[in-house]
Amino acid sequence: MSGGNTFLGMPTFPRNAAAAVQDSQLRFNLRKATHTIRGKRASVVAELPDWTELRTAGKEIKDHTLRNLERYLLQMEEAVTAAGGHVHWAADAEEANRIVADLVKATGETSVVKVKSMATQEIGLNEALQAEGITAYETDLAELIVQLGDDWPSHILVPAIHRNRSEIREIFHDKMADWGRAAPEGLTDEPRALADAARLHLRERFLSTKVAVSGANFMIAETGTLVVLESEGNGRMCLTLPETLISVVGIEKLLPSWRDLEVFLQLLPRSSTGERMNPYTSTWTGAVEGQEFHLVLLDNGRTQVLADEVGRQALRCIRCSACLNVCPVYERAGGHAYGSVYPGPIGAILTPQLRGMGSALDASLPYASTLCGACFEACPVAIDIPEVLVHLRGKARHPRTERLGMRAAGWVFNRPARLARAQRLAVRFRRFVPERLPGPLSAWTDTRDIPDIPAESFRDWWNRTDGGAR
Ligand code: SF4
Repeated sequence: MSGGNTFLGMPTFPRNAAAAVQDSQLRFNLRKATHTIRGKRASVVAELPDWTELRTAGKEIKDHTLRNLERYLLQMEEAVTAAGGHVHWAADAEEANRIVADLVKATGETSVVKVKSMATQEIGLNEALQAEGITAYETDLAELIVQLGDDWPSHILVPAIHRNRSEIREIFHDKMADWGRAAPEGLTDEPRALADAARLHLRERFLSTKVAVSGANFMIAETGTLVVLESEGNGRMCLTLPETLISVVGIEKLLPSWRDLEVFLQLLPRSSTGERMNPYTSTWTGAVEGQEFHLVLLDNGRTQVLADEVGRQALRCIRCSACLNVCPVYERAGGHAYGSVYPGPIGAILTPQLRGMGSALDASLPYASTLCGACFEACPVAIDIPEVLVHLRGKARHPRTERLGMRAAGWVFNRPARLARAQRLAVRFRRFVPERLPGPLSAWTDTRDIPDIPAESFRDWWNRTDGGAR
Protein backbone atom coordinates (compact mmCIF):
# COMPACT_ATOMS: atom_id res chain seq x y z
CA MET A 1 0.00 0.00 0.00
CA SER A 2 1.56 3.26 -1.05
CA GLY A 3 1.01 6.68 0.39
CA GLY A 4 0.82 8.27 -3.03
CA ASN A 5 3.18 10.33 -5.05
CA THR A 6 4.16 13.92 -4.73
CA PHE A 7 4.80 16.35 -7.53
CA LEU A 8 8.23 17.38 -6.29
CA GLY A 9 11.16 17.09 -8.65
CA MET A 10 9.14 17.05 -11.87
CA PRO A 11 10.65 18.41 -15.09
CA THR A 12 9.39 21.60 -16.70
CA PHE A 13 5.96 22.00 -18.29
CA PRO A 14 7.21 21.84 -21.91
CA ARG A 15 8.94 18.49 -21.27
CA ASN A 16 5.93 17.06 -19.43
CA ALA A 17 3.55 18.31 -22.11
CA ALA A 18 5.70 16.96 -24.95
CA ALA A 19 5.49 13.50 -23.38
CA ALA A 20 1.76 13.78 -22.59
CA VAL A 21 0.68 14.72 -26.12
CA GLN A 22 2.14 11.43 -27.39
CA ASP A 23 -0.49 9.55 -25.37
CA SER A 24 -3.46 9.29 -27.73
CA GLN A 25 -5.63 7.50 -25.13
CA LEU A 26 -5.05 10.37 -22.69
CA ARG A 27 -5.92 12.95 -25.32
CA PHE A 28 -9.08 11.04 -26.25
CA ASN A 29 -10.19 10.77 -22.58
CA LEU A 30 -9.49 14.46 -21.94
CA ARG A 31 -11.18 15.69 -25.07
CA LYS A 32 -14.31 13.63 -24.46
CA ALA A 33 -14.62 14.69 -20.81
CA THR A 34 -13.81 18.39 -21.20
CA HIS A 35 -16.08 18.82 -24.22
CA THR A 36 -18.99 17.14 -22.45
CA ILE A 37 -18.69 19.35 -19.35
CA ARG A 38 -18.06 22.43 -21.50
CA GLY A 39 -21.27 21.86 -23.46
CA LYS A 40 -23.35 21.32 -20.30
CA ARG A 41 -21.91 24.47 -18.74
CA ALA A 42 -22.66 26.60 -21.78
CA SER A 43 -26.33 25.55 -21.83
CA VAL A 44 -27.03 26.13 -18.11
CA VAL A 45 -25.17 29.45 -18.13
CA ALA A 46 -27.22 30.57 -21.13
CA GLU A 47 -30.41 29.96 -19.12
CA LEU A 48 -29.62 32.82 -16.74
CA PRO A 49 -30.36 36.27 -18.15
CA ASP A 50 -28.36 37.89 -15.33
CA TRP A 51 -25.20 35.75 -15.65
CA THR A 52 -23.03 38.80 -16.37
CA GLU A 53 -24.36 40.59 -13.27
CA LEU A 54 -23.85 37.45 -11.17
CA ARG A 55 -20.28 37.19 -12.40
CA THR A 56 -19.63 40.82 -11.50
CA ALA A 57 -21.21 40.30 -8.08
CA GLY A 58 -19.01 37.21 -7.49
CA LYS A 59 -15.90 39.17 -8.41
CA GLU A 60 -16.81 42.11 -6.21
CA ILE A 61 -17.75 40.05 -3.17
CA LYS A 62 -14.42 38.22 -3.39
CA ASP A 63 -12.46 41.43 -3.89
CA HIS A 64 -14.21 43.09 -0.96
CA THR A 65 -13.51 40.06 1.26
CA LEU A 66 -9.85 39.92 0.25
CA ARG A 67 -9.45 43.65 0.95
CA ASN A 68 -10.87 43.08 4.45
CA LEU A 69 -9.54 39.58 4.99
CA GLU A 70 -8.11 40.14 8.44
CA ARG A 71 -11.41 41.46 9.80
CA TYR A 72 -13.45 38.60 8.34
CA LEU A 73 -10.96 35.96 9.49
CA LEU A 74 -11.18 37.21 13.05
CA GLN A 75 -14.97 37.27 12.79
CA MET A 76 -14.88 33.67 11.53
CA GLU A 77 -12.65 32.59 14.39
CA GLU A 78 -14.90 34.21 16.95
CA ALA A 79 -18.06 32.64 15.50
CA VAL A 80 -16.57 29.13 15.24
CA THR A 81 -15.25 29.32 18.80
CA ALA A 82 -18.61 30.57 20.09
CA ALA A 83 -20.25 27.56 18.40
CA GLY A 84 -17.98 25.13 20.26
CA GLY A 85 -15.34 24.61 17.54
CA HIS A 86 -11.57 25.09 17.79
CA VAL A 87 -9.67 27.32 15.38
CA HIS A 88 -5.98 26.77 14.49
CA TRP A 89 -3.85 29.08 12.35
CA ALA A 90 -1.29 27.50 10.02
CA ALA A 91 1.29 29.72 8.32
CA ASP A 92 2.58 26.99 6.02
CA ALA A 93 2.21 23.36 4.98
CA GLU A 94 4.49 22.05 7.70
CA GLU A 95 2.56 23.77 10.46
CA ALA A 96 -0.82 22.66 9.06
CA ASN A 97 0.34 19.04 8.76
CA ARG A 98 1.73 19.12 12.31
CA ILE A 99 -1.56 20.49 13.69
CA VAL A 100 -3.65 17.83 11.92
CA ALA A 101 -1.30 14.98 12.89
CA ASP A 102 -1.35 16.07 16.56
CA LEU A 103 -5.14 16.34 16.55
CA VAL A 104 -5.50 12.83 15.09
CA LYS A 105 -2.96 11.39 17.52
CA ALA A 106 -4.83 12.97 20.43
CA THR A 107 -7.88 10.87 19.50
CA GLY A 108 -5.79 7.67 19.66
CA GLU A 109 -6.85 6.75 16.10
CA THR A 110 -4.52 5.67 13.30
CA SER A 111 -6.72 6.36 10.29
CA VAL A 112 -8.84 9.20 8.88
CA VAL A 113 -11.40 9.48 6.08
CA LYS A 114 -11.11 12.47 3.78
CA VAL A 115 -13.62 14.33 1.70
CA LYS A 116 -12.23 16.08 -1.34
CA SER A 117 -9.90 18.81 -0.23
CA MET A 118 -7.43 20.43 -2.57
CA ALA A 119 -5.86 22.33 0.32
CA THR A 120 -4.75 19.08 1.96
CA GLN A 121 -3.31 17.88 -1.35
CA GLU A 122 -1.51 21.20 -1.69
CA ILE A 123 0.22 20.66 1.66
CA GLY A 124 0.89 16.94 1.16
CA LEU A 125 -1.18 15.98 4.20
CA ASN A 126 -1.59 12.29 3.30
CA GLU A 127 2.17 11.80 3.09
CA ALA A 128 2.75 13.75 6.33
CA LEU A 129 0.15 11.63 8.15
CA GLN A 130 1.63 8.45 6.77
CA ALA A 131 5.01 9.45 8.21
CA GLU A 132 3.27 9.61 11.61
CA GLY A 133 1.70 6.16 11.20
CA ILE A 134 -1.75 7.51 10.24
CA THR A 135 -3.47 6.32 7.06
CA ALA A 136 -5.67 8.76 5.13
CA TYR A 137 -8.47 7.21 3.07
CA GLU A 138 -9.89 9.28 0.22
CA THR A 139 -13.67 8.97 -0.06
CA ASP A 140 -14.53 11.08 -3.10
CA LEU A 141 -14.96 8.54 -5.93
CA ALA A 142 -12.45 10.18 -8.26
CA GLU A 143 -9.96 10.70 -5.43
CA LEU A 144 -10.38 7.05 -4.49
CA ILE A 145 -9.46 6.05 -8.06
CA VAL A 146 -6.40 8.31 -7.89
CA GLN A 147 -5.36 6.93 -4.50
CA LEU A 148 -5.84 3.27 -5.43
CA GLY A 149 -3.96 3.82 -8.69
CA ASP A 150 -1.04 5.46 -6.80
CA ASP A 151 -1.58 8.29 -9.21
CA TRP A 152 -1.87 12.09 -9.23
CA PRO A 153 -5.04 14.13 -9.67
CA SER A 154 -5.19 15.72 -13.11
CA HIS A 155 -8.29 17.92 -12.91
CA ILE A 156 -9.73 20.10 -10.15
CA LEU A 157 -13.24 18.71 -10.30
CA VAL A 158 -12.65 15.30 -11.88
CA PRO A 159 -9.24 14.25 -10.53
CA ALA A 160 -9.34 10.95 -12.48
CA ILE A 161 -10.41 12.56 -15.77
CA HIS A 162 -7.43 10.93 -17.47
CA ARG A 163 -8.79 7.43 -16.71
CA ASN A 164 -11.47 5.65 -18.70
CA ARG A 165 -13.77 3.04 -17.21
CA SER A 166 -11.81 -0.02 -18.24
CA GLU A 167 -8.72 1.45 -16.57
CA ILE A 168 -10.82 2.14 -13.46
CA ARG A 169 -12.06 -1.46 -13.43
CA GLU A 170 -8.45 -2.67 -13.54
CA ILE A 171 -7.50 -0.39 -10.64
CA PHE A 172 -10.46 -1.50 -8.51
CA HIS A 173 -9.84 -5.16 -9.32
CA ASP A 174 -6.11 -5.02 -8.56
CA LYS A 175 -5.89 -2.54 -5.68
CA MET A 176 -9.11 -2.31 -3.65
CA ALA A 177 -8.22 -5.25 -1.44
CA ASP A 178 -4.98 -3.49 -0.35
CA TRP A 179 -7.03 -0.62 1.07
CA GLY A 180 -10.03 -2.44 2.63
CA ARG A 181 -12.97 -4.31 1.17
CA ALA A 182 -12.00 -5.99 -2.11
CA ALA A 183 -13.82 -5.42 -5.41
CA PRO A 184 -16.62 -7.95 -6.08
CA GLU A 185 -15.85 -11.05 -8.15
CA GLY A 186 -16.49 -10.59 -11.86
CA LEU A 187 -16.45 -6.77 -11.69
CA THR A 188 -17.27 -5.25 -15.09
CA ASP A 189 -16.53 -1.77 -16.41
CA GLU A 190 -20.21 -0.77 -16.40
CA PRO A 191 -20.52 2.60 -14.59
CA ARG A 192 -23.16 1.17 -12.22
CA ALA A 193 -20.99 -1.83 -11.30
CA LEU A 194 -18.00 0.42 -10.65
CA ALA A 195 -20.10 2.80 -8.52
CA ASP A 196 -21.52 -0.15 -6.53
CA ALA A 197 -18.04 -1.51 -5.86
CA ALA A 198 -16.88 1.90 -4.65
CA ARG A 199 -20.00 2.33 -2.51
CA LEU A 200 -19.51 -0.99 -0.69
CA HIS A 201 -15.81 -0.31 -0.20
CA LEU A 202 -16.38 3.21 1.14
CA ARG A 203 -19.45 2.41 3.28
CA GLU A 204 -17.36 0.00 5.33
CA ARG A 205 -14.71 2.66 5.74
CA PHE A 206 -17.17 5.37 6.83
CA LEU A 207 -18.68 3.13 9.49
CA SER A 208 -15.35 2.15 10.99
CA THR A 209 -13.40 5.44 11.00
CA LYS A 210 -13.71 7.94 13.83
CA VAL A 211 -11.81 10.95 12.46
CA ALA A 212 -12.51 12.88 9.25
CA VAL A 213 -10.53 15.51 7.41
CA SER A 214 -12.36 17.82 5.04
CA GLY A 215 -11.89 20.96 3.03
CA ALA A 216 -14.61 23.52 2.33
CA ASN A 217 -15.81 25.46 -0.69
CA PHE A 218 -16.78 28.48 1.39
CA MET A 219 -16.64 29.80 4.95
CA ILE A 220 -19.26 32.31 6.11
CA ALA A 221 -17.75 34.78 8.53
CA GLU A 222 -20.98 36.12 10.06
CA THR A 223 -21.98 32.75 11.54
CA GLY A 224 -18.75 30.71 11.38
CA THR A 225 -20.36 28.24 8.96
CA LEU A 226 -18.49 25.98 6.54
CA VAL A 227 -20.01 24.92 3.22
CA VAL A 228 -19.20 21.89 1.06
CA LEU A 229 -20.77 21.31 -2.36
CA GLU A 230 -20.56 17.80 -3.79
CA SER A 231 -22.29 15.29 -6.02
CA GLU A 232 -21.98 11.88 -4.39
CA GLY A 233 -23.13 12.18 -0.78
CA ASN A 234 -19.83 10.66 0.36
CA GLY A 235 -18.87 14.06 1.64
CA ARG A 236 -21.93 14.26 3.85
CA MET A 237 -21.14 10.87 5.39
CA CYS A 238 -17.57 11.95 5.92
CA LEU A 239 -18.71 15.17 7.57
CA THR A 240 -21.34 13.68 9.85
CA LEU A 241 -20.43 10.10 10.86
CA PRO A 242 -16.98 10.49 12.47
CA GLU A 243 -16.63 11.68 16.07
CA THR A 244 -13.97 14.26 15.18
CA LEU A 245 -13.99 16.51 12.13
CA ILE A 246 -10.91 18.51 11.11
CA SER A 247 -11.42 20.99 8.25
CA VAL A 248 -8.36 22.43 6.52
CA VAL A 249 -9.36 25.52 4.57
CA GLY A 250 -7.41 28.20 2.69
CA ILE A 251 -7.96 31.66 4.15
CA GLU A 252 -9.25 32.97 0.82
CA LYS A 253 -12.38 30.79 1.02
CA LEU A 254 -14.20 33.33 3.19
CA LEU A 255 -17.45 35.09 2.38
CA PRO A 256 -18.80 37.79 4.67
CA SER A 257 -22.44 36.62 4.86
CA TRP A 258 -25.09 34.09 3.82
CA ARG A 259 -26.44 36.62 1.29
CA ASP A 260 -23.11 36.38 -0.51
CA LEU A 261 -23.37 32.59 -0.62
CA GLU A 262 -26.50 32.93 -2.76
CA VAL A 263 -24.40 34.36 -5.59
CA PHE A 264 -21.84 31.56 -5.44
CA LEU A 265 -24.44 28.80 -5.21
CA GLN A 266 -25.56 29.97 -8.65
CA LEU A 267 -22.08 30.47 -10.09
CA LEU A 268 -20.27 27.36 -8.87
CA PRO A 269 -22.45 24.37 -9.89
CA ARG A 270 -23.18 25.87 -13.31
CA SER A 271 -19.48 26.55 -13.94
CA SER A 272 -18.17 23.25 -12.59
CA THR A 273 -20.44 20.31 -13.33
CA GLY A 274 -22.78 22.20 -15.66
CA GLU A 275 -25.70 21.64 -13.28
CA ARG A 276 -28.24 24.16 -12.03
CA MET A 277 -27.57 22.93 -8.51
CA ASN A 278 -25.23 20.26 -7.17
CA PRO A 279 -26.95 17.27 -5.46
CA TYR A 280 -25.50 17.81 -1.95
CA THR A 281 -24.76 21.08 -0.17
CA SER A 282 -23.63 20.53 3.44
CA THR A 283 -23.26 23.35 5.93
CA TRP A 284 -22.12 23.12 9.54
CA THR A 285 -21.30 25.56 12.30
CA GLY A 286 -18.92 24.65 15.10
CA ALA A 287 -19.36 21.43 17.08
CA VAL A 288 -22.61 19.74 16.04
CA GLU A 289 -24.38 16.94 17.93
CA GLY A 290 -21.40 16.08 20.06
CA GLN A 291 -18.93 15.94 17.18
CA GLU A 292 -15.62 17.62 17.99
CA PHE A 293 -14.76 20.21 15.35
CA HIS A 294 -11.42 21.79 14.43
CA LEU A 295 -10.87 24.40 11.75
CA VAL A 296 -7.32 24.82 10.43
CA LEU A 297 -7.00 28.16 8.61
CA LEU A 298 -4.25 27.76 6.03
CA ASP A 299 -2.08 30.55 4.67
CA ASN A 300 0.75 28.68 2.86
CA GLY A 301 1.70 31.59 0.60
CA ARG A 302 -1.72 33.20 0.25
CA THR A 303 -0.86 36.46 2.07
CA GLN A 304 2.15 36.75 -0.23
CA VAL A 305 -0.18 36.42 -3.24
CA LEU A 306 -2.45 39.04 -1.69
CA ALA A 307 0.45 41.50 -1.63
CA ASP A 308 0.76 41.36 -5.45
CA GLU A 309 -1.62 43.87 -7.00
CA VAL A 310 -2.00 41.99 -10.30
CA GLY A 311 -1.56 38.41 -9.07
CA ARG A 312 -3.97 38.66 -6.13
CA GLN A 313 -7.02 38.17 -8.35
CA ALA A 314 -6.07 34.45 -8.44
CA LEU A 315 -7.35 34.29 -4.84
CA ARG A 316 -10.88 34.89 -6.10
CA CYS A 317 -10.84 31.38 -7.57
CA ILE A 318 -13.70 29.12 -6.48
CA ARG A 319 -12.08 26.01 -8.05
CA CYS A 320 -14.89 25.43 -10.51
CA SER A 321 -12.52 24.13 -13.25
CA ALA A 322 -14.33 25.96 -16.08
CA CYS A 323 -11.00 27.41 -17.21
CA LEU A 324 -9.50 23.90 -17.54
CA ASN A 325 -12.37 22.65 -19.67
CA VAL A 326 -11.99 25.41 -22.26
CA CYS A 327 -8.18 25.53 -22.35
CA PRO A 328 -6.63 24.19 -25.59
CA VAL A 329 -3.32 23.58 -23.79
CA TYR A 330 -4.88 21.64 -20.89
CA GLU A 331 -7.00 19.61 -23.30
CA ARG A 332 -3.89 18.30 -25.03
CA ALA A 333 -1.33 18.17 -22.24
CA GLY A 334 -3.57 17.00 -19.37
CA GLY A 335 -3.26 17.93 -15.73
CA HIS A 336 -0.11 16.01 -14.76
CA ALA A 337 2.07 18.18 -16.98
CA TYR A 338 1.50 21.14 -14.61
CA GLY A 339 3.17 19.26 -11.74
CA SER A 340 0.81 20.67 -9.16
CA VAL A 341 -2.47 19.92 -7.46
CA TYR A 342 -3.80 22.96 -9.34
CA PRO A 343 -3.60 22.19 -13.07
CA GLY A 344 -4.73 24.14 -16.13
CA PRO A 345 -4.90 27.92 -16.45
CA ILE A 346 -5.60 28.56 -12.76
CA GLY A 347 -2.68 26.31 -11.82
CA ALA A 348 -0.43 28.21 -14.21
CA ILE A 349 -1.04 31.41 -12.23
CA LEU A 350 -1.68 30.07 -8.73
CA THR A 351 1.13 27.53 -8.30
CA PRO A 352 4.02 29.87 -9.21
CA GLN A 353 2.58 32.46 -6.82
CA LEU A 354 2.03 30.05 -3.93
CA ARG A 355 5.31 28.15 -4.36
CA GLY A 356 7.41 30.91 -5.94
CA MET A 357 9.27 30.50 -9.21
CA GLY A 358 12.44 29.00 -7.75
CA SER A 359 12.15 25.65 -9.53
CA ALA A 360 12.40 25.22 -13.29
CA LEU A 361 8.91 23.67 -13.30
CA ASP A 362 7.25 26.55 -11.46
CA ALA A 363 9.07 29.14 -13.60
CA SER A 364 7.79 27.37 -16.74
CA LEU A 365 4.12 27.40 -15.71
CA PRO A 366 3.28 31.01 -16.74
CA TYR A 367 4.25 29.90 -20.28
CA ALA A 368 1.80 26.97 -20.28
CA SER A 369 -0.72 29.02 -22.23
CA THR A 370 -1.42 30.42 -25.66
CA LEU A 371 -2.94 33.56 -24.05
CA CYS A 372 -6.08 32.93 -26.13
CA GLY A 373 -8.28 34.29 -23.33
CA ALA A 374 -10.87 31.46 -23.29
CA CYS A 375 -10.16 30.93 -19.56
CA PHE A 376 -10.96 34.55 -18.72
CA GLU A 377 -14.26 34.39 -20.60
CA ALA A 378 -15.29 31.18 -18.83
CA CYS A 379 -14.24 32.24 -15.32
CA PRO A 380 -17.30 32.92 -13.12
CA VAL A 381 -15.35 35.38 -10.96
CA ALA A 382 -13.71 37.16 -13.91
CA ILE A 383 -10.09 36.35 -13.12
CA ASP A 384 -8.07 37.84 -15.96
CA ILE A 385 -5.78 34.83 -16.22
CA PRO A 386 -3.92 36.07 -19.35
CA GLU A 387 -3.12 39.33 -17.54
CA VAL A 388 -1.63 37.43 -14.60
CA LEU A 389 0.27 35.04 -16.92
CA VAL A 390 1.94 37.97 -18.68
CA HIS A 391 2.65 39.62 -15.33
CA LEU A 392 4.32 36.43 -14.05
CA ARG A 393 6.29 35.99 -17.28
CA GLY A 394 7.74 39.42 -16.59
CA LYS A 395 8.89 38.21 -13.17
CA ALA A 396 10.36 34.91 -14.39
CA ARG A 397 14.08 34.63 -14.90
CA HIS A 398 14.89 34.69 -18.61
CA PRO A 399 17.91 33.11 -20.36
CA ARG A 400 20.84 35.43 -21.00
CA THR A 401 20.48 35.24 -24.80
CA GLU A 402 16.83 36.28 -24.53
CA ARG A 403 17.67 39.17 -22.20
CA LEU A 404 20.43 40.37 -24.57
CA GLY A 405 18.08 40.01 -27.56
CA MET A 406 15.36 42.01 -25.81
CA ARG A 407 17.84 44.68 -24.78
CA ALA A 408 19.02 45.01 -28.38
CA ALA A 409 15.42 45.14 -29.64
CA GLY A 410 14.64 47.82 -27.04
CA TRP A 411 17.63 49.87 -28.22
CA VAL A 412 16.45 49.68 -31.84
CA PHE A 413 12.76 50.35 -31.13
CA ASN A 414 13.58 53.27 -28.86
CA ARG A 415 14.48 55.66 -31.74
CA PRO A 416 12.45 55.93 -34.99
CA ALA A 417 15.60 56.63 -37.02
CA ARG A 418 17.28 53.50 -35.68
CA LEU A 419 14.22 51.41 -36.42
CA ALA A 420 14.07 52.75 -40.00
CA ARG A 421 17.74 51.90 -40.54
CA ALA A 422 17.26 48.43 -39.08
CA GLN A 423 14.25 47.84 -41.36
CA ARG A 424 16.23 48.85 -44.44
CA LEU A 425 19.06 46.53 -43.43
CA ALA A 426 16.59 43.71 -42.90
CA VAL A 427 15.10 44.29 -46.37
CA ARG A 428 18.52 44.34 -47.98
CA PHE A 429 19.63 41.09 -46.36
CA ARG A 430 16.28 39.35 -46.27
CA ARG A 431 17.45 36.56 -48.60
CA PHE A 432 19.96 35.49 -45.95
CA VAL A 433 17.53 35.26 -43.03
CA PRO A 434 17.37 31.55 -42.06
CA GLU A 435 14.15 29.66 -41.37
CA ARG A 436 15.50 28.58 -37.99
CA LEU A 437 17.74 30.56 -35.65
CA PRO A 438 21.06 28.92 -34.84
CA GLY A 439 22.62 27.78 -31.51
CA PRO A 440 21.13 28.96 -28.23
CA LEU A 441 18.52 31.05 -30.10
CA SER A 442 17.00 27.95 -31.73
CA ALA A 443 14.50 27.48 -28.87
CA TRP A 444 12.76 30.62 -30.09
CA THR A 445 12.11 29.15 -33.56
CA ASP A 446 11.34 25.60 -32.33
CA THR A 447 7.74 26.70 -31.91
CA ARG A 448 7.58 29.79 -34.13
CA ASP A 449 8.19 30.66 -37.78
CA ILE A 450 10.33 33.66 -38.61
CA PRO A 451 7.95 35.87 -40.61
CA ASP A 452 8.86 36.65 -44.23
CA ILE A 453 10.52 40.05 -44.51
CA PRO A 454 8.73 42.11 -47.21
CA ALA A 455 10.64 43.66 -50.09
CA GLU A 456 9.74 47.11 -48.80
CA SER A 457 8.97 48.21 -45.26
CA PHE A 458 5.64 49.93 -44.50
CA ARG A 459 7.52 53.07 -43.58
CA ASP A 460 9.33 53.20 -46.96
CA TRP A 461 6.10 52.43 -48.82
CA TRP A 462 4.38 55.27 -46.98
CA ASN A 463 7.15 57.72 -47.83
CA ARG A 464 7.31 56.59 -51.47
CA THR A 465 3.55 56.78 -52.08
CA ASP A 466 2.76 59.67 -49.77
CA GLY A 467 0.51 57.47 -47.63
CA GLY A 468 -0.96 55.66 -50.67
CA ALA A 469 -1.99 58.91 -52.44
CA ARG A 470 0.42 58.34 -55.35
S1 SF4 B 1 -9.84 30.51 -12.28
FE1 SF4 B 1 -12.02 30.92 -12.56
S2 SF4 B 1 -12.65 29.37 -14.07
FE2 SF4 B 1 -10.67 28.67 -13.25
S3 SF4 B 1 -11.16 27.31 -11.55
FE3 SF4 B 1 -10.90 29.36 -10.68
S4 SF4 B 1 -12.95 30.26 -10.63
FE4 SF4 B 1 -13.03 28.52 -12.02
